[in-house]
Amino acid sequence: MKSLVFATNNKHKLEEVQALMGSKFHLKTLEEAGCFEDIPETGTTFEENASQKSRYIFDHFKLDCFSDDSGLEVDALNGEPGVYSARYSGSRDPETNLQLVLDNMKGKSNRQARFICVISLILDGNEYLFEGRAEGRITADRSGNAGFGYDPIFQPEGYNITYADMSGEEKNQISHRAQAIQKLTDFLDGYNEY
Ligand code: IMP
Repeated sequence: MKSLVFATNNKHKLEEVQALMGSKFHLKTLEEAGCFEDIPETGTTFEENASQKSRYIFDHFKLDCFSDDSGLEVDALNGEPGVYSARYSGSRDPETNLQLVLDNMKGKSNRQARFICVISLILDGNEYLFEGRAEGRITADRSGNAGFGYDPIFQPEGYNITYADMSGEEKNQISHRAQAIQKLTDFLDGYNEY
C-alpha cells in the first residue's frame, strides 16, 4: 500500500483524514516517521504554516509527506481567530478558545464565518497546495459533543445543526478538510508514482 507521512500531532485530524483517504493510503504518523519534535508554525497565513510543516519533514527525513493548516475565520472579528485558531486565547485549551469566540461575538448580528484548510504536499521534492473552505455561521451557544475545536459553535451553510451535532461521516461529507483532501487524492490518483 502507498505510504505518506501526515505531519500532524492532532489525533482528531488524523482520524478524520484517515477516514477520508480510506484504504488507498497508509498514513504514517510523525512518530512512525521518527519525528518527536515540535514542528515550528510561525507563518501568518494558512499556506505559510502548511508549507513550513511539510518542508520540515521533507528537509529532516526526506520522506513524501503532507500537512494541513486550518482554522476558523469570523467576519465580525476581522477574520480572527484565523491562523491563531489553536491558541486564540493564548492557551491551547479548545474550550477556552471556543468560549472567547462566543464572548467576542456577543451582540454581533453578522455571524458569517468559514473554516479553511490548506494542505501542502511534498512529493519527490516538489510542493503542491490544495485548499478547502466551508461557509457557515457562529451559533449563539455551543451545541453537540462530537468532533473537536470550534465544532460546537459552527453551523455549516444549509444546516441547522453544528459540526459537533453531526456524526464523523456527516462532517466528512462537507467539511473544509474533506474538500481539501478530495483535491489531494484526485491529484495523487493522477500522479504516476502513486
Ligand atoms: P492547526 O493544527 O494549526 O491547523 O490548528 C487548527 C486549529 O483550528 C485547531 O486547533 C482548531 O482549533 C481549529 N480547527 C481546524 N479545523 C477544525 C475543525 O474541523 N473543527 C473545529 N476546529 C477546527
